Amino acid sequence: MGEEETTEINEMAIKCPVCAVEGFATSIMKEIEIPHFGKVLETTIQCKKCGFKHSDVIALEHNDPAKYSLKISEETLSVRVVRSQSATVTIPEIGVKVEPGPKSEGYVTNVEGILTRFEGAVKKAMQLFQDEQSQTNAQNTLEAIEELINGERTATLIIDDPFGQSNIVSDDVVISEIPEEELQQLKTGFSHIEDK
Ligand SMILES: [Zn+2]
Repeated sequence: MGEEETTEINEMAIKCPVCAVEGFATSIMKEIEIPHFGKVLETTIQCKKCGFKHSDVIALEHNDPAKYSLKISEETLSVRVVRSQSATVTIPEIGVKVEPGPKSEGYVTNVEGILTRFEGAVKKAMQLFQDEQSQTNAQNTLEAIEELINGERTATLIIDDPFGQSNIVSDDVVISEIPEEELQQLKTGFSHIEDK
């Protein structure tokens, strides 16, 4: 895989969307050229006053809505992954799933980075749900994630993106259409406005 090129496009001071204090928040826009994929625009908003941070990515070259599947193994841990805000990320064998929501972020990472993010999410959940059953389940999930990171087991990474903004950049990826009934159930991160 060739070299990735990152170009900073602009940085500007903005009013923080959370604490609304002026002069502390910046928005940094970067263009990342990912070999065998194309250009991705990454925007990161950061506030030094309240600590708010949010990032998102937009693929500049259009993809169709698609389901991407890749076998996670020692060989694929470094495979590039583009996860947009609208994507659902699942590893069915170990029962973990991240769905888009108002707080979900878009990012460019690799398979290992996805696993590390899941690890963080499970640890956070462990602090929220203290009952024994939840703790045992979470502990088992953490062990499974650890084994995946160490290349000691395999599983499937699935990314469903109804807007075609995500990708797993590998020759081994299996790309398929999202079945209609699944497409309707996918969360998009946008609130629903019902027609009256
Ligand atoms: Zn703020």
